[in-house]
Amino acid sequence: MDQNNINERIQDLVEETEQKPVRREKKEKPQLRESIYSLRLDELQQWLTEHGEKAFRAGQIYEWLYEKRVKSFDDMSNLSKSLRENLKEHFALTTLSTLIKQESKDGTIKFLFQLQDGYSIETVLMRHEYGNSICVTTQVGCRIGCTFCASTLGGLKRHLMAGEIVEQVVKVQQELDEVGERVSHIVIMGIGEPFDNYDNMMNFLKVVNHDKGLNIGARHITVSTSGIVPKIYKFADEELQINFAVSLHAPNQEARQKLMPIARAYKLDELLEAVRYYTKKTGRRVSFEYGLMAGENDSVEVAEELADLIKGIKCHVNLIPINYVPERDYIRTSRSSIFAFEKALKKRGVNVTIRREQGADIAAACGQLRAQERQDEISR
Ligand code: SAH
Repeated sequence: MDQNNINERIQDLVEETEQKPVRREKKEKPQLRESIYSLRLDELQQWLTEHGEKAFRAGQIYEWLYEKRVKSFDDMSNLSKSLRENLKEHFALTTLSTLIKQESKDGTIKFLFQLQDGYSIETVLMRHEYGNSICVTTQVGCRIGCTFCASTLGGLKRHLMAGEIVEQVVKVQQELDEVGERVSHIVIMGIGEPFDNYDNMMNFLKVVNHDKGLNIGARHITVSTSGIVPKIYKFADEELQINFAVSLHAPNQEARQKLMPIARAYKLDELLEAVRYYTKKTGRRVSFEYGLMAGENDSVEVAEELADLIKGIKCHVNLIPINYVPERDYIRTSRSSIFAFEKALKKRGVNVTIRREQGADIAAACGQLRAQERQDEISR
């Protein structure tokens, strides 16, 4: 299935579910400058040779970008002045500016960044025992329309270019440089559906994973999708060692499509078939994310149904106590019911964990800060 078909299927759903479709801006769109961070090493080499420079300069530029993490092209002191000017003319080094930086009691830091065209995105840094993990955004808004999620309020404004995703990590790493720490893990679980911006997401992965790039190991990176089936096959065929998560949230088709309109475009059985293909092709287990919502999908019977549904799939279930979104109706399941749900899954042999909550005091769930701070942008 090609991208046009996918767009159509998602667009139909968006219209059906009365989410706002991608807005065709009436006024002229600001020209976005390409970010230098968008380029894979091979693309940068190619660009250089096309511009009369030696390909090996790409390695030097990568070193300035990802090892020394300079904030200006002028700091790239082993490049000729003309090359620096040429880079400046063609690329932006900075496309994000920090609008808000909020620090939680537990060390979680949430950033609201402004893009070149004025839109804003969120990035979250979480402190764990095993390291520093960053949650990145892939789109301005989202068109998937999950009924419990703040990121989809206001629909999709635009895709992020790869460099805008990479720069989120670079910016946070620059902050950590000051205290001698490192971003060790990445989760692609911020605003947006990464598989709806597939090519840019892939370039992002290639840059952050490359040993001359940010050199973050594939096993330390997790990508999460709401379930765009054709892209799951494509991703499986990339044969990467990246952790893969699927937002499931329900134990059957009917319940799932109520929570996630995307389930009407890609049915649950198609989704699970793609997941099985993924586990077979990569040899890796998949992580099912399951947000617990009081009275919706959180009874022990539902847990049993879920255990039956995923039986035989090499997987792990991550239970998420849902974050309350004022614009949405759902309420978080009580602690005792979360434990009962977990126990019922364990009893049936399912690997299960409960996601530890971080940054609750700073609205750190996907899309929450942007929704709070930028009402104008969402209703625009
Ligand atoms: N679009 C991708 C990735 C971003 S969301 C996806 O759907 O997987 C990352 C996770 O947060 C998803 O599992 C999503 O369903 C979940 N999520 C969305 N809204 C939430 C909320 N209000 N509380 C808790 N988790 C939420």
